[in-house]
Amino acid sequence: MISRNGSPRFFSALCMSLFLMLLPGSAFSFTVVIDAGHGGAEKGAVHGDLVEKDLCLAVARGVRAHLVKRPGMRVVMTREDDATLSWEERGRIIEEADPDLIVSLHFNTDIFMLAETRGLEIYYPADDFGRPSKEAIALFDRNNRSFAFGKFLRDRYLRSPLFSEWKHDLNLFSQRDLKIFRLTAAPIVLLEIAYLTSADDRARICNGQFFDDMARFIAAVIVEWAAKK
Ligand SMILES: [Zn+2]
Repeated sequence: MISRNGSPRFFSALCMSLFLMLLPGSAFSFTVVIDAGHGGAEKGAVHGDLVEKDLCLAVARGVRAHLVKRPGMRVVMTREDDATLSWEERGRIIEEADPDLIVSLHFNTDIFMLAETRGLEIYYPADDFGRPSKEAIALFDRNNRSFAFGKFLRDRYLRSPLFSEWKHDLNLFSQRDLKIFRLTAAPIVLLEIAYLTSADDRARICNGQFFDDMARFIAAVIVEWAAKK
């Protein structure tokens, strides 16, 4: 006697599931939080017409648009629009998502307006050995995994057209103790995508093609990373 789960229909569904699992890009289940920095009353950096909160949201939406096409990829946004988010709300959204990775998106300014201060920056959490040992060890592991993703992104970036053709610099890849890193124990990186105070960066930011290329690049790196997990 063939049980209900042993029916031919079940086996054909099973074969189809296995087939889909073998397709490139579909063999994983991965949750990523895309965090558009600032929002609402909190504008972030402002330079002329360029307002950081709007730029962060535009890139976040672009990244999400590319990610949701991928089977197995669950995308959670901390904000979908120009909402003001408290740190508590941002932390709650991240916690409820139970993510494998968080990518926080920002834009930067340099108060000295130095031409050298330009390009992409990648930050991952700094180790804090002042915490109780159990907590510190868990975060040490998280920080290592954050570093690994950040390094992966950096390596891909240096071989991407953003770097070689758009000539968008890589300014920093560094650990730092940032407020958002303290909201979560999940792997996280923060990207400062460009400097609003750099004329070169501004020219690129104002080019829709560059914007789309950047969003596509970030999404592609996340997908590649997720497929390795
Ligand atoms: Zn910011």
